[in-house]
Amino acid sequence: MNIPESPEKDHPSCILCGRCLEVCPLFRVTAHEELSPRGKAFLVQQFSFRDISSREASKLAGLCAGCGRCTRVCPQGIDLPRLISSLKNRHPGWKNWLFSRMLSNGSIFLPLLSLGGRLLPQAGGARAFSPPRRPIAPLFKTRVSRKHSGRAVIFPGCFGRFLRRDLTGKAVHILGSTGLEVLPTPAWKCCGFPLAQAGFLQEQQACMQANIEMWQELGRPRVYTFCAPCRAGLTEAHSPEDLHNDMRMLAQNTFSLSRVLPDLGFETLPHAGPQELVWHEPCHGTKETAQALHNLLKTKSLGLKVPDGQCCGLGGAFRLQAPKLSLQMAHDLWENLSPQPSSLCLTECAGCMMQLASTGPGGTETAHWLDLFQD
Ligand code: SF4
Ligand code: SF4
Repeated sequence: MNIPESPEKDHPSCILCGRCLEVCPLFRVTAHEELSPRGKAFLVQQFSFRDISSREASKLAGLCAGCGRCTRVCPQGIDLPRLISSLKNRHPGWKNWLFSRMLSNGSIFLPLLSLGGRLLPQAGGARAFSPPRRPIAPLFKTRVSRKHSGRAVIFPGCFGRFLRRDLTGKAVHILGSTGLEVLPTPAWKCCGFPLAQAGFLQEQQACMQANIEMWQELGRPRVYTFCAPCRAGLTEAHSPEDLHNDMRMLAQNTFSLSRVLPDLGFETLPHAGPQELVWHEPCHGTKETAQALHNLLKTKSLGLKVPDGQCCGLGGAFRLQAPKLSLQMAHDLWENLSPQPSSLCLTECAGCMMQLASTGPGGTETAHWLDLFQD
């Protein structure tokens, strides 16, 4: 497969317009110009014309959470997370190797992460970095509606495959309730999104190729996922030329699971009392899940607080690379959320869930939105 060696060589130049400064969560918590996207775009361009040491690459790569906000506003189309991925790819001798090794061995990655929050540096009083274990009381029970037809399959991601299989079960049940024929979940590889962020482009593209082959063997069904980075990994990843058409077809057939929620009937379940519900939009989410949940909760006279999306600081391997900054970003997020003591924070990203659960103020809980549904 053809991995671009250094896309930064042909990259447009920064015109110092400053738009990226307004949206960068890292710049927001530090106000250091060298941590700003334009500061980093300049550094990347400098680095592109010479070899850099692993130490330099590690330092640079640890200074971006990969949230993609700067790319979305840059008039020059500078894709800083991609440039940094490329640099990482050429300089693998840094801490991300650990993260990537765990990801490449999907069967051990998330269990290791949950057992070994200790593998990730702790700082600033964060609690264990692991998925929340305490089940929350479900609010809804799905009714069969049969408004859809055709074949579909769930892409549960590493989180749904290894750590929270119950979420995969709920997802299959919800999808089946729409009338779709739900195929058995194959042994998908990692979606590739965190691998690409960690700079392991060959591994990402090997996963992409394996997933495309499995999808083709299944007869190209619709693919539904309940993890925002997985959706991004299957629909937005840069693919090499030889996989381009297949990847485009897979992307066109991949959806967030929440898309079927408006077509389903639900029974509401008795529930313990008012609790503030807050939504955390993952950096690579589409906002459609928040809207679907908001509409559903309204039927139960419950609100969903949806603040402006703010990065939680997990950023793939960012917590590993720059733990203090990562936690600073998480604390900044919680401060802006200013949750009530018994708030339940919902999201749809395994990494965000673990970061939020390990940094939230006492009394707050974090859960995946599928936890609102009964098995
Ligand atoms: S990707 Fe996000 S964290 Fe990285 S420089 Fe851009 S805005 Fe800042
Ligand atoms: S938005 Fe793009 S062009 Fe403007 S300062 Fe940032 S990197 Fe430079």
